[in-house]
Amino acid sequence: MVMNRIVVVGGSVAGLRAVETLRLEGFEGAVTLVCGEPHLPYDRPPLTKQILTGEINAEQLCYRDHQWFERNAVDLCLGTPASALDISTGRVHLGSNSIPFDGLIVATGARPKSFSPRSSLRGIFTLRTVDDALAIKERMLPGVRMILVGAGFIGSEIASSAAACGVQVTIVELAEAAMIRAVGPQLGRILAGLHDEFGVNVVCNARVTGFGGKGSVEAVMLDGGWELPADIVVVGIGVDPNCEWLIGSGLRIEDGLACDRTLNAGPRNVYGAGDVVSWPNEWWGGVMRGQQWLVAADQGKHAARNLLAGPERATPFSTIPYFWTDQYGCRVQAAGRTDLGQLIAVAGGHRQRPFIGVYRHNGQLTGVVTINAPKAFAALRTCLHDHSSFDTAWEVAVKNCPPPD
Ligand SMILES: Cc1cc2nc3c(=O)[nH]c(=O)nc-3n(C[C@H](O)[C@H](O)[C@H](O)COP(=O)(O)OP(=O)(O)OC[C@H]3O[C@@H](n4cnc5c(N)ncnc54)[C@H](O)[C@@H]3O)c2cc1C
Repeated sequence: MVMNRIVVVGGSVAGLRAVETLRLEGFEGAVTLVCGEPHLPYDRPPLTKQILTGEINAEQLCYRDHQWFERNAVDLCLGTPASALDISTGRVHLGSNSIPFDGLIVATGARPKSFSPRSSLRGIFTLRTVDDALAIKERMLPGVRMILVGAGFIGSEIASSAAACGVQVTIVELAEAAMIRAVGPQLGRILAGLHDEFGVNVVCNARVTGFGGKGSVEAVMLDGGWELPADIVVVGIGVDPNCEWLIGSGLRIEDGLACDRTLNAGPRNVYGAGDVVSWPNEWWGGVMRGQQWLVAADQGKHAARNLLAGPERATPFSTIPYFWTDQYGCRVQAAGRTDLGQLIAVAGGHRQRPFIGVYRHNGQLTGVVTINAPKAFAALRTCLHDHSSFDTAWEVAVKNCPPPD
């Protein structure tokens, strides 16, 4: 099939990496990047970190400037969400307009889960976009009372940034401890300890039942009749994939856009990448949805290469999941499976850093995690890639262990 025009829908890290790769691989046809947001593609991880603390401003988030898109002949359709997909005619609909494609990459990512009970009070936010972050930042004044609903990555990072700005932070979490739903119980307990250590109040086993206030939020109501005073609330309880616009297209939607191991979505000219995609990850041993920056970036590149190669020459996308999070001046890095097996501390422990831990499952090395030990992390991640034995990883961890903080 001759491909003259490729459309990438979704202009964040997965979509941008796809566009860059199409040009790097020598594709000379037309490329269009469609994005629901009005901004040039920008980096999301700093939104909960340096944007909230004021270390960087919104302009510094952009990956590429307008000139780059012009130089690379990439048509930008910003602020125009795709509303439907017609595979038989090869068109992406943008409301009343539509654009044709010979090849398509779906990279529409995810959005914060909607929260029940709903409330129309001012001062209740979620955080996914730069506009969300700036609106929250504007209200983060010293002494303001902030309630975070959900103690996953988003809630925990906001807590850390807000506390650094003098905001009085309380986190409300449904589970028995902060972070355990995000990373499993063992690592979760270690990360939850950071909130304690830095004086952020965490209320666990607590369900939010409603919000109180007149016009603006003034309180968060909890099960059992408890009420917490609040000037600002941020809800961070997970994300849902943005795939409603694909309904009726014939593509399979199952926890996101269901792709095969090469990231192909069914038709030979349609691929998916990033947080919107679920795919069988060989390394993981099952179907998963990434939700991590590096996975999204790598999938964008891979989907572009496979689209150009065609299904006969497409290669599987198999990856060892990796994430980092910055909280309270600590850099946490983890790779592999933090949800199974036993976490064994090689160095450090509860409130002792640097921390280096390795996961063992059925005698094998299955995951690694470090806090403030980037060199050890890099070496251990190589062990995972090389399928090293658990004992080898242990030796590597000991050899690369930095002195105590
Ligand atoms: C605040 C925050 C902090 C994070 N921190 C970390 C971190 O420290 N480490 C880490 O590993 N990961 C982190 N992540 C996760 C990481 O940012 C995501 O995994 C990554 O952004 C996913 O990229 P994506 O391109 O798949 O999708 P997204 O970033 O979700 O972008 C999708 C884009 O598609 C657009 N879109 C949606 N629907 C349509 C449509 N119908 N038509 C056109 N466009 C559409 C959206 O507007 C959006 O711009 C963080 C995420 C957030 C929100």
